[in-house]
Amino acid sequence: MGVSEYKTDAWVQWCPGCGNYGVLTALREAVSELKIDPKKLVLVGGIGCSSRIVYYIRGSNVHAIHGRAIPIASGIKLSNPELTVIVAAGDGDILGIGAGHFIALGRRNIDVKVLIHDNAVYGLTKGQAGPTLPSGVKLRAMNYANVHEALNPLLLAFASGYTFIARAYAYHVKKLKEILLEAIRHRGSAVVDILQPCVTYNDLMTKEWFERRIYYLKSIPSGESILDKMMERERIPLGIFFRKEMDTFEKRMEKFDVDLESVIRKKTLF
Ligand code: SF4
Repeated sequence: MGVSEYKTDAWVQWCPGCGNYGVLTALREAVSELKIDPKKLVLVGGIGCSSRIVYYIRGSNVHAIHGRAIPIASGIKLSNPELTVIVAAGDGDILGIGAGHFIALGRRNIDVKVLIHDNAVYGLTKGQAGPTLPSGVKLRAMNYANVHEALNPLLLAFASGYTFIARAYAYHVKKLKEILLEAIRHRGSAVVDILQPCVTYNDLMTKEWFERRIYYLKSIPSGESILDKMMERERIPLGIFFRKEMDTFEKRMEKFDVDLESVIRKKTLF
């Protein structure tokens, strides 16, 4: 199917220049290239500007509640393993209120992809500090500088057990699409931390700010250099940091001869 067939009639309600447009374009191109039937594509959004992406790509999509996109996506995938299930939400949603679910998905290695629209602010609620905003930074709409330390999504994903971990940049649409293709093809829990400017509220991490710092990894790091690369701060590496093949949650449950559908119906799993 051509890319245009994944477009919907919905009016895109993002500010001009928002990084979300890059993610939208790259994701449409990736699912088109993989020829995923829209009936078998499920995007699950949380709450926030970025989560509105579920209205802009044809699929059997769900606009969920704040911080709960991952458990809903997990239930969908376990109920119907044929589906391609992708969570798309902001850093505030996934790494703030939804952080416990983010960790649980990594531990389970369910075949769900998590796209973090990472702009370090809560854009929808007018620019408060998000979990990835560096400490001491005061952005346009904040009364005081951020008192929290920034959370590193890659390290959290690694510690949680994700089997595919990558970082991308929303304005580099072609490279972002390549990373999304790899994430979707991977069997297991995958996370792509997508750095993106919020042109309205984040007046520090602008296009110029990112483009002075980012560079692409030449290859997937191994051994101790995985953590070194994930922790780099002055410059920001992009690309795939970690990939590992191992049994998914679904596969492991088969070994126990558990009927997942009946477990989900009884609501005992989540
Ligand atoms: Fe994008 Fe920020 Fe505007 Fe929200 S407020 S649509 S994140 S630029």
